[in-house]
Amino acid sequence: VSENSQPILMIDPGHGGTDPGASGHGLIEKNMVLDISLYQYNRFKELGVSVGLTRNNDTFIDGTSRANIVVSSKAKYCISNHINAASSSTAKGAEIIHSIHDDGLFAKVIANSLADAGQVLRPTATYCKSNAQGKDYYFMHRQTGNVKTCIVEYGFLTNKEDANRLQMNWIPYAEAVVQAFCQFVGHDYSEPLIKTDENVANKSGFEDVPNHHWAAASITKAVESNIFTGVSKERFYPDRNVTRAQLAVILDRAGLLK
Ligand SMILES: [Zn+2]
Repeated sequence: VSENSQPILMIDPGHGGTDPGASGHGLIEKNMVLDISLYQYNRFKELGVSVGLTRNNDTFIDGTSRANIVVSSKAKYCISNHINAASSSTAKGAEIIHSIHDDGLFAKVIANSLADAGQVLRPTATYCKSNAQGKDYYFMHRQTGNVKTCIVEYGFLTNKEDANRLQMNWIPYAEAVVQAFCQFVGHDYSEPLIKTDENVANKSGFEDVPNHHWAAASITKAVESNIFTGVSKERFYPDRNVTRAQLAVILDRAGLLK
């Protein structure tokens, strides 16, 4: 799903489709990591970082195909987004797992940035793990070869405080990882052009635009000002493309045409 022929960075929203990943306190990992990943994808494009995604909708991708998408993109870096679950409800905080062949510096920069954004870190916030054969334990490290892949676990859906923090603050946490990548590779970083204002979000009540959607505030304003409405009363389809004809009408309604 890469728009650029050769992205420097691949963002991988974990799970998808028939594989929901972790769930707890009303949140489902596959949806939350897709929101986080789409937010980061748009932010990286805004910052001029060539970026791709392993999935941009709710589809299932098996592990080998997922790793192959990353490898064939020829990207140098991969951020694999996940949210944790544990049998103990007290386990909480973010952790970043890097390859056994990686010095772990990128993971440390991400961990520090998440802490600056207010997320709790696990006691061991960054680490690597090998299997019985002495290879990387996780397939995303084992099968992505020379790509510098970090698995970012933003917190635990099975912990009430973490789930609450994630629901309220997933945008600042997603942004923290964007900032960390820019810092690590030495790319110019600037704050988002559009800030999501939680207070005006989702008054229009679309089922597919949750309060925490990164564009919720702008979508609400577009609908309220009658410039750009939903496909139905219930659905806005935030990730569908706009046609050239629709764009002309939107520009006209926005008063930008003479
Ligand atoms: Zn996961």
